[in-house]
Amino acid sequence: MSLKRICVFCGSRSGGRPIYAEVATRLGTLLAERQIELVYGGGNVGLMGKLADACLEAGGRVVGVIPRALMDWEVGHEGLTRLEVVDSMHTRKARMAELADGFIALPGGLGTLEELFEVLTWAQLGFHAKPVGLLDVAAYYTPLVQWLEAGVSEGFLKPENRELLLHADNPVTLLREMGQYHPPAVARRIKDERQL
Ligand code: AMP
Repeated sequence: MSLKRICVFCGSRSGGRPIYAEVATRLGTLLAERQIELVYGGGNVGLMGKLADACLEAGGRVVGVIPRALMDWEVGHEGLTRLEVVDSMHTRKARMAELADGFIALPGGLGTLEELFEVLTWAQLGFHAKPVGLLDVAAYYTPLVQWLEAGVSEGFLKPENRELLLHADNPVTLLREMGQYHPPAVARRIKDERQL
């Protein structure tokens, strides 16, 4: 699967330990080196700002998509290749999903998880067949992964839908896994039936 543009969801805060910003910076640099365009929420705060700055500094292309109402709060980044200012959070998420060939979640808070689980549920329904990866820095997401396993063992989550979320502790491995991703047959079949 060729990944020309990746959408990254991440915290509007930087987290309590330097490792989070370090990995956000590493991911931004790696995307630039691989000539993969970064799509993200367009802010200049927290891990979002670190990620975008690193990608730009390494010569990469960065597209931000930000709701008008958040321009002040998330400090719309002025140095991006392109900043799309949209009318709502819904439009932002739809636009980011439309632009990207795959999705990565770095550590973040409620917004990051909301965005991650939305693209996962869209994958589960076959609305897209793009890879979704969790970049698990410093085991931050270990409880989330455990919860997914519990979802399977308790019968709320189909094992094949659990597999929709790729998982690695470093950007190089995660990008490799995403590049080798084959969507589950179920998702592909639903996708074909619905002709989405
Ligand atoms: P957070 O992980 O809470 O720091 O938020 C990260 C990003 O998610 C920020 O760009 C927020 O604007 C965005 N965000 C926050 N809440 C939501 C939501 N309900 N739906 C979609 N995105 C959100």
